Amino acid sequence: MTYELDGQIYEVEIIYKRIRNIHFRFENEKYLISCPKRTPVSMIKSGLDKYARKLRDRSTKTQAFGDDYVYLFGQKVAVSYPGSLFLDAETKINFKDQDDLIKKARKYFLNYMQGRTLYYEEFMKSPHYLVKVRQMKSRYGSNNRHAKTITYSLTLLHYSPEIIDSVIVHELAHCFVYNHSDKFYRVVYNYCPRYDEFRKKLIKAVFA
Ligand SMILES: [Zn+2]
Repeated sequence: MTYELDGQIYEVEIIYKRIRNIHFRFENEKYLISCPKRTPVSMIKSGLDKYARKLRDRSTKTQAFGDDYVYLFGQKVAVSYPGSLFLDAETKINFKDQDDLIKKARKYFLNYMQGRTLYYEEFMKSPHYLVKVRQMKSRYGSNNRHAKTITYSLTLLHYSPEIIDSVIVHELAHCFVYNHSDKFYRVVYNYCPRYDEFRKKLIKAVFA
């Protein structure tokens, strides 16, 4: 069986098993489906209509970490564990494993975000905010006006400086406009004219 998505034909391999539910996977440009015996093809097709795009897009996204590399500030850096790397010309970190690398890079990243946010606060004439960094699943940043705190997602650390800046501009623009209206985006575009381009890269995990 084959399945067409966005004009591309993909091979579909169906494996009948003694299981209760259908499982969809996408590996090596191919859909792999495990399903109970006598599952009608129509049911498999409607499942593909539902999940095929998500499965494919997720698998083709570049991963921030590989076994022997990591993306830092949009650059693909070769790593081995334990190992060391330079975060900038002067800052070298040593790490035991991936968790240790993240822990040490996180400290540097917080400092970096504090500096960049301060720069944009002066540029945009926005109030001064406390800057935090933490692991966030669904957002790249958040602006807490009452606590005057901006929290950035740690995942930004993998992206290029200009993409990171676009998130800073977004968060600081909320100091002037609290929603995502046209008025808000006028502020954003004023300080980051290529905002749309950077946003797309952010969503698609295009780090550079
Ligand atoms: Zn926002």
